[in-house]
Amino acid sequence: MCIICIDLEKERLSTQEAFRNLNEMYDSLEEEHVKEVVEILFERLHSRMNDEDEESDLWDGLGNFIF
Ligand SMILES: [Zn+2]
Repeated sequence: MCIICIDLEKERLSTQEAFRNLNEMYDSLEEEHVKEVVEILFERLHSRMNDEDEESDLWDGLGNFIF
């Protein structure tokens, strides 16, 4: 659990902001946990992909984190 998860849980971060934070914090997180955060973000994108077209470029960015 990191600040990204906590803020996502409390709905204080949009998926986009969370992804930006992940990029910034990537080096300070365990690789295992980066994977977990990426999964959370993927799930959020999946559940919103129909009405959040502007987030589609996030998919490309998240692709960089697939292990
Ligand atoms: Zn976390």
